[in-house]
Amino acid sequence: MDKGSESFESAVSAAVPGQRGFDYLVVGAGFAGSVLAERLARELNQRVLVVEKRKHIGGNAYDRYNDEGVLIHPYGPHIFHTNSADIFEYLSRFTEWRPYQHRVLASVDGQEVPIPINLDTINRLYGLNLTAFEVEKFLASVAEDVKEVKTSEDVVVSKVGRELYNKFFRGYTRKQWGLDPSELDASVTARVPTRTNRDDRYFTDTFQAMPLHGYTRMFERMLDHPNIKVMLNTDYREVADALPWQHMIYTGPVDAFFNHRYGKLPYRSLEFQHVTLPQEHFQPVGTVNYPNDYAYTRITEFKHITGQTHPKTALVYEYPRAEGDPYYPVPRPENAALYRQYEALAEATENVTFVGRLATYKYYNMDQVVGQALATFRRLKQKHEDAARA
Ligand code: FAD
Ligand code: UDP
Repeated sequence: MDKGSESFESAVSAAVPGQRGFDYLVVGAGFAGSVLAERLARELNQRVLVVEKRKHIGGNAYDRYNDEGVLIHPYGPHIFHTNSADIFEYLSRFTEWRPYQHRVLASVDGQEVPIPINLDTINRLYGLNLTAFEVEKFLASVAEDVKEVKTSEDVVVSKVGRELYNKFFRGYTRKQWGLDPSELDASVTARVPTRTNRDDRYFTDTFQAMPLHGYTRMFERMLDHPNIKVMLNTDYREVADALPWQHMIYTGPVDAFFNHRYGKLPYRSLEFQHVTLPQEHFQPVGTVNYPNDYAYTRITEFKHITGQTHPKTALVYEYPRAEGDPYYPVPRPENAALYRQYEALAEATENVTFVGRLATYKYYNMDQVVGQALATFRRLKQKHEDAARA
């Protein structure tokens, strides 16, 4: 079992001596749960029990060395990027960083070209030599006139027209989500911008870096506090009634918490195929996307991202799935409506706070989850201060 794990017996005995029990039961040791556990323990001196059903901390950002010694991300590639100095500074308490700018190529028409679509993408795809100014005119000439941008199809065709939409977005999105882009909120494909310059970075955020010793080490340091006990391999339902606690922070899927009372909230899943090859390098950049070929969406080669030097290299292929571990909320109007029903239940559940990507059904990146957890902490702290004054 990983470092930081407690047995049920030791968690019980840790709770009993002061007769105080745990102030907080935190369900899930991903970003949402770990940030809140850290803040509550360190700043408010609360006694916190973190219960995680997997056998490791870190949630989907967990990383580890595989049997060949290559650092991998078992739940798919995780690249940290944020525009928030506060979030970056907060995480910097627990890790040093390795600067890293992610680059992605898309395999289209037999070529590997930059995605997000930029000046070089268009020139290479069409054998042209346009300037930035000319490419702007080209895109304006092919863009469709969309009155109101509502769906993931609208976003793209209104910027780059139908042909580029078909080449780069339609197939990828249908594969990734099992839905046509016209059935998904605009926010999904809006994550990928269009550029008329030659910037080929996937993200343009102010802070882009990887934890120098990996995510798991960063989580270990976050959770390393005498007031925090971590219990792995445990579903919270196994212990919630048997242990004394005052307030719960829940970071799992919100519909599961309420026993799917209103029906299942759709979450998209992935199957990860991990491969290690006896060669130093496999592909020119961290990720290559396959919008139109194969059953997988993308291949990621971890050494680009982690900076590790090793005679072997490790890859992950992502195969989208309808069933399996919940990884992505599916942003579309009917799901938002169903989520609102669960949200109303969540708000009415006084001694439980729902935080994170699964519990608030938001397609959040890591930094957004950290931001949400820190904002939640500020609200809880205010409540503590109000209670102390009363
Ligand atoms: P999670 O990490 O899912 O943690 C929730 C935890 O709760 C899990 O460990 C789960 O096991 C546990 N849990 C659930 N139910 C129970 C229960 N009943 N009892 C006990 N424990 C329970 N973000 C980026 O910023 N950059 C990226 O490059 C990036 N790439 C991604 C790639 C993929 C393939 C995926 C799926 C996500 C990616 N993300 C990325 C998003 C990132 O993973 C999330 O924003 C972040 O990890 C969410 O943290 P969380 O704590 O909300 O949820
Ligand atoms: N997308 C696409 N083609 C690409 C890259 C992205 O159609 O080459 C669409 C697809 O719908 C995807 C969404 O844009 O799910 C968001 O892409 P992102 O890379 O942010 O996805 P994530 O890393 O969160 O899986």
